[in-house]
Amino acid sequence: MNVHTKPKAGKERAGSKAATPKAAALRGSDAIAPDCTGQDFYALDRGLQQLLALYLPARLHAHMEPHFKRLGVLAGGRLDELARVADQNGPVLHARDRAGRDEDWIEYHPAYREMEKIAFGDFQFHAMSHRAGVLGLDAPMHPVAKYACQYLFVQGEFGIMCPVSVTDTSIYLIRKYADPKLKEYLLSRMLSADPDVQWKGTQFMTEKAGGSDIGRVETVARNEGGTWRLYGEKWFCSHADADVALMLARPEGAPEGTRGLALFALPRWLKDGSRNSYRIVRLKDKLGTRSMASGEIRFEGAVAYPVGRLDQGLKQMMDQVNLSRLSHGVRAAAMMRRCVNEALMVARHRVAFGVPIIEHSLLRRQLMKLIVPTEQALSMAMCAAAVMGEADAGSAEAADTLRILTPLVKFRACRDNIPVATGAMEVRGGNGYIEDWVNPRLVRDAQIGVLWEGTSNINALDVIGRAVGKTRAHKALGALLRRRLGETKGLPAAFTARLETTLARALGFAERVAAEPASEPQTRRAASALYHAASAVLLAWEGTRDTADARRALVARFVLEHRLSPKDPLEAEETGWEAPAIAAILEKGAVPLARSAKLLAD
Ligand SMILES: Cc1cc2nc3c(=O)[nH]c(=O)nc-3n(C[C@H](O)[C@H](O)[C@H](O)COP(=O)(O)OP(=O)(O)OC[C@H]3O[C@@H](n4cnc5c(N)ncnc54)[C@H](O)[C@@H]3O)c2cc1C
Repeated sequence: MNVHTKPKAGKERAGSKAATPKAAALRGSDAIAPDCTGQDFYALDRGLQQLLALYLPARLHAHMEPHFKRLGVLAGGRLDELARVADQNGPVLHARDRAGRDEDWIEYHPAYREMEKIAFGDFQFHAMSHRAGVLGLDAPMHPVAKYACQYLFVQGEFGIMCPVSVTDTSIYLIRKYADPKLKEYLLSRMLSADPDVQWKGTQFMTEKAGGSDIGRVETVARNEGGTWRLYGEKWFCSHADADVALMLARPEGAPEGTRGLALFALPRWLKDGSRNSYRIVRLKDKLGTRSMASGEIRFEGAVAYPVGRLDQGLKQMMDQVNLSRLSHGVRAAAMMRRCVNEALMVARHRVAFGVPIIEHSLLRRQLMKLIVPTEQALSMAMCAAAVMGEADAGSAEAADTLRILTPLVKFRACRDNIPVATGAMEVRGGNGYIEDWVNPRLVRDAQIGVLWEGTSNINALDVIGRAVGKTRAHKALGALLRRRLGETKGLPAAFTARLETTLARALGFAERVAAEPASEPQTRRAASALYHAASAVLLAWEGTRDTADARRALVARFVLEHRLSPKDPLEAEETGWEAPAIAAILEKGAVPLARSAKLLAD
């Protein structure tokens, strides 16, 4: 393949590594509880370690273990330091270069550039799924390992995972749909780990008139003498200065609505080395993801290459959307884990009324409200990644299961991330509101999950309306979960039967809502019920595996009792079983199956 060196656009802001404060600065004092800065996030995460042993083939698991360890140390160490600085020193747009040419460029803090090197150069997240050679592997990486890497990385830095993931998903689309010439042109650059060669990707769909209602896209594509040129504006463009954007536009004369949308690849640089005709008009002043640049872009006859069939644009783009949705679910799971780690650190060190606050029963219950959704999200994300591996290997049933799991994980995990982040802030008390600590960033970053790649409503509608109503994909999910239940040994029969009944009811509820248009207002409830039922089954199954910590099965009970059972707000709850279960979950060591089983029987 013919690989060119790309023109140098990315200037770095003046500064040095010394600009990043040392981790020790936030260790706390006798009175102030410390944070997790400097911790090894892989070592801390026994749940993840056990699930990786369960979901990954043994050889791959052994190969990846040192890389997970290295990422765990980085995420709690250098990445965390860089993330803090990059968050506080966001990107700056310059409309012209210093010679006065209208060639806009974005200035990044060196901390962001260093994170790019770790992500794109060292770990090559963007290429993991697409070629051998990443982290010494002789084949593309299994999805479980890839998403585990994302999960660890995001506990340190969230913002840059958008450019990283969207480069990965852009490569997927180009590999799948582009013609051989376009593949040759783009992939040689996009798959590179050499920053002088590499082209990073992104995805632009949303316009002023429509995000959810994407059929309202107004950007026009004109075929001018055999070259496609784009005219119009995109309103939300994350990774605004990416080298290649995959985007939707309407070829002149194409029908209105989604049917008329085509998919194009838009390079930032043309083959003669000049800039393509589009401008980043403004960067968004965002609530979160502040390290990464999101902007508004105007296309003024920009050259673009059609990808795949002109009349299949949205259908093809949905492949990228779905990959991003799964990554968002994983990212939400990761941020929730960081929140839980932070909350436990505070709870064990902060003293109030003469004892560490973890000893107050009311606070222990609050901690469970953080832990339960975090473990649910991890189980669901790992399951989806494992299913993706089977679908990639050709299983049609797995492809169906993935079809429904993807929006399900995105919808619920991203939604749960918000109260978990707020809850972790509250556990830290007033300091949780102060930017010296990671909590404000976690609260800000958590919000975006319910917006990009579709809001909660749009993802819930995809689960119930399309995946259940049209594709009937819940059948495959139900079959997988029933198999898991059949393999769940050692738990009280009544508990397993309760899981089975709950699963059947959740699947039935989803079917009824999908079948009845008047039930649309119930869509989120139905999708949530399906998520909770599925995660309870998975947690119980995982908790009974040989290598497992049986506390996962206890978490399944919390899901049943607190997320799937009716409550009377005017009555005290029957919580006799809870206190010993919480004590077991908050212990540092693993719990044997017999002890969990006993707690589940009470
Ligand atoms: C920081 C940031 C970065 C982004 N980056 C990108 C990017 O790189 N590329 C890109 O293409 N987009 C990007 N987006 C756009 C994002 O995907 C959209 O904002 C999102 O899809 C919602 O679209 P909208 O803003 O047009 O809201 P709308 O679609 O107008 O939605 C408004 C409200 O109406 C609800 N709604 C809409 N339709 C229905 C329905 N049928 N039933 C029930 N409720 C409904 C929604 O749930 C929402 O609550 C980004 C957004 C942000 C904030």
